[in-house]
Amino acid sequence: MNTNIHFRDKNLHPVWDKVQRGERLTLQDGLILFASPDVISIGKMAHAVQRMKSGDAVYYVVNQKIEPTNICVLSCSFCDFAVKQGSPEAYEMTVADILAKLNSDVHEVHITGGLHPDWPWEYYVGMVRDIKKAFPQLDVKAFTAVEIDFFHKKFKMPIAEVLRQLYDAGLRTMPGGGAEVFSERVRKLLFNQKIGAKTWFDVHTTAHRMGIPSNATLLYGHIETYEERVGHMLRLREAQDQTGGFLSFIPLAFQPGDTGIKPKNEFTSAIEDLKTIAVSRLMLDNVPHIKAYWVMLTEEVASVALNFGADDMDGTVGGEKIAHDAGAVSPMAMAKEKLVKIITDAGKIPVERDVYYNALNVDAANVIGQIPYLNSVPFYAHFEQRQFKMLPIAPRRMGVLAQKGQIDAGLFSLMDYFAQEESLEAARFGIASRDQVKSVILLTNEGWRGLHGKTIGIIDDTATSVKLLQVLLEKKYGVKANLERMHAGVNDYSRYDAVMLIGDAALRAVKEGGTGFYLCYDLAKEWYDWQKMPFVFAVWAYRRTLPPERKAELNELIDTALQRGEAEIETVGAVHGRRIHLTPEESAEFLQGFNYRLGDREQEAMRLFKKLIEEVEVS
Ligand code: SF4
Repeated sequence: MNTNIHFRDKNLHPVWDKVQRGERLTLQDGLILFASPDVISIGKMAHAVQRMKSGDAVYYVVNQKIEPTNICVLSCSFCDFAVKQGSPEAYEMTVADILAKLNSDVHEVHITGGLHPDWPWEYYVGMVRDIKKAFPQLDVKAFTAVEIDFFHKKFKMPIAEVLRQLYDAGLRTMPGGGAEVFSERVRKLLFNQKIGAKTWFDVHTTAHRMGIPSNATLLYGHIETYEERVGHMLRLREAQDQTGGFLSFIPLAFQPGDTGIKPKNEFTSAIEDLKTIAVSRLMLDNVPHIKAYWVMLTEEVASVALNFGADDMDGTVGGEKIAHDAGAVSPMAMAKEKLVKIITDAGKIPVERDVYYNALNVDAANVIGQIPYLNSVPFYAHFEQRQFKMLPIAPRRMGVLAQKGQIDAGLFSLMDYFAQEESLEAARFGIASRDQVKSVILLTNEGWRGLHGKTIGIIDDTATSVKLLQVLLEKKYGVKANLERMHAGVNDYSRYDAVMLIGDAALRAVKEGGTGFYLCYDLAKEWYDWQKMPFVFAVWAYRRTLPPERKAELNELIDTALQRGEAEIETVGAVHGRRIHLTPEESAEFLQGFNYRLGDREQEAMRLFKKLIEEVEVS
């Protein structure tokens, strides 16, 4: 990390040393951070980690929040939203009411609400199914662990069955609320009717195993101690190590309202909010995104948080009641243009996303796409950015954005480069295998020929590896299989006869197993054994319309960065490698398996691959 920090609080030095080495922070480290008055240094540390994970990107989503009812069988003491049946403020929405609030611009609907005493199970399943039917472009994020547990008890179905029926109806992710803070002391005092940490984790980890990723929140700023706040983060980090299914962490500032827990106008201070966001980014090294939820933080604090560790602003929300009933002061809905402006003013790239954090649109100039896997670290570790902004993005998405003219340059998947050769000009840099790579693998319990007619799940991130798989199946082994796209993040592999993984997910699967498959084929090695050629996975390219001096500058920046990266090949991947549980030696060995400069043999291999793809496509 190339960040120089002049600490005013010397206690922060050892914490920063650990962060720079990619080591995990402990409960004690978290308490040092919360106790420190040196907020700016804490923010700088968190921002350095944020940049390593998300580059200059800050995400937002065009979403609509729906709270179908405020009638709730529980009476949590911090909740100003719920009422009892018969109350003059009680409301209930029909599915038609819900559909009327949605439109074809919305990408995510976020549904949470009260635990209604009378609604039947079919109402919930029908709601999800009808939304998905009316708006196929939209992803449904619905029901907290509290609601899922309520359905499980009320309708007498196991948690997994509740989730299965909702998944089949179209539910794709879950919000993170419900546990508030994982402390039995606080739960007994403030919400003793509500589920505890154990049930919350049971629901979320069951969802993850079924291929439903989720989010996690922390409600802070009421009666919890710092130790309980940090303890909450550590329990989450531990669960994430097991499942990898949490997409984001959302610290939610407590809104006192009429709860009586704190005086009505005693909101958390901006310093407290920023510190909590920054500490979350530092403690939760395995959670991809930290959200600055502007509804509760206010626009002003949320915008500063984008340089304090947060890389997500949530979305347009389109009307939110729970926090506002408790006194939140932010505008009820924020227009997309306003979100884009706040993110741009913070010096970041506004990235419109879907529910899985796939980039849909980018609204900035001079954007460079960055493959976020360990194999590309030698290019990016010492890349001098100058006027450019870095967008870590899965290869397939980079191709889509380049097609829209939203990316100026990047390390493109070979297939995307082939598809856009007219608009993209290649540099002589890229990622090519020597023989095996370990990060593009096929996992199965069958040999290659046993896969004829079977279904192979393919990770949603790549075009080149999918084509390589197809070429190997059809041209090398004479096998036709059905390829079915899995989404990014957690997936239920038991739905498939084989799965293809790439990048860091593949490296972890090779190292840790636990996928349910016992055969693992390295696709680069399969190619090498067959063709005695390297395989080119990615190519650096820039838009042909860039001025010549800009292209020359990019060439020079890539070359200089790579020279340094290659000179440090023994160490340059150590921090990234640790995040995916590789030792520094394993990371170094992995990186040494690639060529980063594309010579004549690589060009020849590219031509051969192109010819084979054409043959597969006409067969
Ligand atoms: S917090 Fe949720 S479960 Fe508790 S009373 Fe409010 S709506 Fe009901």
